[in-house]
Amino acid sequence: MTVRGTVRAPSWWNLAPLGVVAGLSRTEGGVVEHDVVALTQRLVRAASMNPPGVEEAAGLVLAEQARAWGLQVSVQEVAERRANVIVRLPGAGTAPTLVYCGHLDTVPADSRGWDEDPLGGVIRDGYLWGRGAVDMKGGLAAMLTSLAALRQADVALPGDVVLAAVVGEEVDCAGSRHLDGTDVLDGAEWLVVGEPTDLDLVIAHKGAIRVQLVAHGKAAHGAIPELGANAVVAMSDLIAGLRVFPEGTVPYPLLGLPSVSVNTIEGGTAINVVPDLCRAVVDIRTVPGTDENEVLATIQAAADRAAAKVPGTDIEVSVMHVRAPVGTAADAPLIRAAEETAVRVLGSSRPARGAAYFSDASVLAPPRRLPTLLFGPGQEKYMHQPNERVSTTALQEAAAFLAALPRTLYGVAR
Ligand SMILES: [Zn+2]
Repeated sequence: MTVRGTVRAPSWWNLAPLGVVAGLSRTEGGVVEHDVVALTQRLVRAASMNPPGVEEAAGLVLAEQARAWGLQVSVQEVAERRANVIVRLPGAGTAPTLVYCGHLDTVPADSRGWDEDPLGGVIRDGYLWGRGAVDMKGGLAAMLTSLAALRQADVALPGDVVLAAVVGEEVDCAGSRHLDGTDVLDGAEWLVVGEPTDLDLVIAHKGAIRVQLVAHGKAAHGAIPELGANAVVAMSDLIAGLRVFPEGTVPYPLLGLPSVSVNTIEGGTAINVVPDLCRAVVDIRTVPGTDENEVLATIQAAADRAAAKVPGTDIEVSVMHVRAPVGTAADAPLIRAAEETAVRVLGSSRPARGAAYFSDASVLAPPRRLPTLLFGPGQEKYMHQPNERVSTTALQEAAAFLAALPRTLYGVAR
C-alpha cells in the first residue's frame, strides 16, 4: 500500500516524537467516547483563526493524534505554517475511496461577548465551549476518532477511508483548492464534509458568485452637471431591482430559489462634484442548476442598459470568486447508507435537508462529480458567534455515526 499524496513535511513542521500523545484510552461500542471530546478540546486550544490564517498548531494536534493512533499521516504544505493534513485508513481491497473532509481554520474571536475563554475548551453544562467547537473542530475530531475506532476494531474495509483536514476554508478555500490539484482524491467516489449539521443529513448547499460592479463616468462641477457623466446615477439604475435569474427559474428542492443582495456601495468624492466612479459588490447565492455564465451575461446586459441611460458612463462587471453549489440525490447510495446508519447508530432517522452556507465541497465535489453528504456535530446557530459551543454527546454520536457509515456503505459485516 503506497501512501498517495505524501510529501516531505516542510521544515517548519515539527511533529513530536511518537509516543508522547496518549493512544486510545477506552472504547465503547467501537468508538472512543472520551477521546473525541478530548481531541476537540485540544484542537480548540490550538488557535487557528483565519484571518490571519495560521493553522499550523491545529494541524500538528491532529497529525500527532492520528499518528499516535496508528494511522497513516501525510502533510501538504499550502503556504508557510499552513498545511493540509491527510490521514489514510488503507482498505483491504480495490473498492473506491470514501473521503472525509474538514477545515482546520476558524473565524476570529476575541473575548468580547463570551462567557468562557474562546481558546479554553472549557466543558460546562454538557457543552464544550470555544471558537471552532462547532465550526468545525468538533467535526474534525469526530472524523479522526472514527478512523481510529475503525482501525482499532480491525474492520477490513474494501476501500480506503481518507480524512483530508484542509486549511483556509473561512477565507478562500486555499487548502481544498490545493488538495484539488493533487492526487490524494484519485479513486474517491464519495465525500463527507464534517460541517455542523446538528447531526442532520445535509445533502445540498448553496453556492456563491461574488461580483464587483464598477461604474465609470466623468467628473464635473456640481453646478453644471450636464458637463459630467454621473457614475452613481448609472449604478443606482443598475442595482435597483437587480435581477440575475430569468423569470420562471424553478426552486431547487431543499434550497429554494437563488438570491441576490447588493451588499456594499461607494462612490463620489464631494457634495459639489459629479462622481466619476462608483463601486458595488453583489453577493449572489446559487443553487444546483444555476448557470453561472447565464447569471453573468444577465448582469452584463443589465449593466449595459443602465450605462446607456446615462451617456458617458460605462459599467464593468467582474467576478471576484465563485463557489459551486452542491446537491446530491436523496436516493444516492451514500445518502441511503447515511440514513440507514443514522437509524442504527443515532436511534432515529435524521432529516435530509439543505444548508445555506457553502463548504469545501464547492471546490472538491463538482470536478469529480462526488456525491456529497454534510454531517457534523453542533448547531448552525452557533457558527461564527460568541459562546460557540458543541454538545459533548453530539461529538460522541457524530464519531459513532462516522465509524459506522463506511461499514454500511461498503456492506461490511458489523
Ligand atoms: Zn466551516
